[in-house]
Amino acid sequence: MDAVLEIDLPNRCAVVQPGLINLWLTTAVSDRGYFFAPDPSSQMVSSIGGNVSTNAGGPHCLKYGVTTNHVLGLEMVTGAGELVRIGGKAAERPGYDLTGTVVGSEGTFGLVTAITVRLLHTPEAVKTALATFASMTEASEAVSEIIASGIVPAALEMLDAAIISAINASIGKIYPDAADAVLLIELDGPRAEVEAQAERVATICRRHGAVSVTVAADEMERALLWKGRKEAAGAVGRLTSSYLLQDAVVPRSKLPQIMREMKAIAARHRVVIANVFHAGDGNLHPLICYDDRSAEELERAKQANEELLGACIALGGSVTGEHGVGLDKAKNLPLQYGEADLNFMFRLRRVFDPAGLMNPDKLLPSHPACGEGFRPKRPVLPAGAWI
Ligand SMILES: Cc1cc2nc3c(=O)[nH]c(=O)nc-3n(C[C@H](O)[C@H](O)[C@H](O)COP(=O)(O)OP(=O)(O)OC[C@H]3O[C@@H](n4cnc5c(N)ncnc54)[C@H](O)[C@@H]3O)c2cc1C
Repeated sequence: MDAVLEIDLPNRCAVVQPGLINLWLTTAVSDRGYFFAPDPSSQMVSSIGGNVSTNAGGPHCLKYGVTTNHVLGLEMVTGAGELVRIGGKAAERPGYDLTGTVVGSEGTFGLVTAITVRLLHTPEAVKTALATFASMTEASEAVSEIIASGIVPAALEMLDAAIISAINASIGKIYPDAADAVLLIELDGPRAEVEAQAERVATICRRHGAVSVTVAADEMERALLWKGRKEAAGAVGRLTSSYLLQDAVVPRSKLPQIMREMKAIAARHRVVIANVFHAGDGNLHPLICYDDRSAEELERAKQANEELLGACIALGGSVTGEHGVGLDKAKNLPLQYGEADLNFMFRLRRVFDPAGLMNPDKLLPSHPACGEGFRPKRPVLPAGAWI
């Protein structure tokens, strides 16, 4: 089910099947000056159905919003076997916003079989800059000031020294080796605005200690800067055989603090933590490296992972930014939601899927008190305690 069913430019939308690879949609409309904005770094391989189910983000979601902001309608087979059509091309519709409810439901309501998505017009100008810093803290402070100044870059990504060396070893020398942190900053929009904003961003970066700020001279240089970022997860194979990937969030003003805490956590558990993340959203993707031949090392990596998650929550963050809850983080939801909140979500799930057939172990913990010792299993609920 990977077909583009309809391209409707007057209504600036397309109807696609869920198995369509994200990047293929932009490829299908780019020659007509359009693009599909959600761009998870996995966009070369991830499906739009998967993007919808996890409410995927991506580097350009800082300016354009996440998947839910680009889904106009859905066709779905619910867990009860009904074929339902939700939302659609018309701008205003009566009734509940079920489209927003289904996006991000991680397949727990039913199978999405068709998706109507928004298409955006390609901006007139795009400028991509690379700012290098001697520390993650300085780079994080620059991020806060860029946003506070009123500029919303299309993307604002940060990479640390460990990731830079992995990418340079794996893909070719793309980023300066000596940098402790680089910011990849993309601005887009009307040409005059982009030029003016680029100067302001460069000034802010320098004020926060940027060692260099360079702008991609042409489309080839720009593509190369993005190639490094988009292939970073694979390049980590140069650092480690295995890693735990965290997807926690902090308010972006807390980036300098979480970076300091992360360093301390890495030292305490004697693990390397490499970072490549959506700095503008405060959405962290620490990669906690370990050797899977050592059970003791894996245990240390897991402890560092949980400690890091706790630190993000303590700073007002979230247990997941864009990758979804899945099986792994169901046990962490009670850190963020109270029992009544979880009960409410559970009852909503039963409306779509009364028999609990659809991805039964995903998204919600089987019981709110399951934090310790939770094992994914079909929810078996003590009467009255949970529903
Ligand atoms: C290297 C790498 C980089 C990544 N970068 C990002 C990023 O920048 N931003 C981001 O948000 N995520 C990122 N991800 C996570 C992931 O790629 C995305 O969440 C993506 O949206 C998942 O799509 P998929 O096709 O792989 O879905 P899958 O992994 O196959 O499925 C994801 C979930 O959706 C459900 N599902 C899939 N299709 C349907 C359907 N038709 N109906 C109902 N349920 C369905 C599945 O059951 C599953 O629970 C990254 C992953 C990797 C490996």
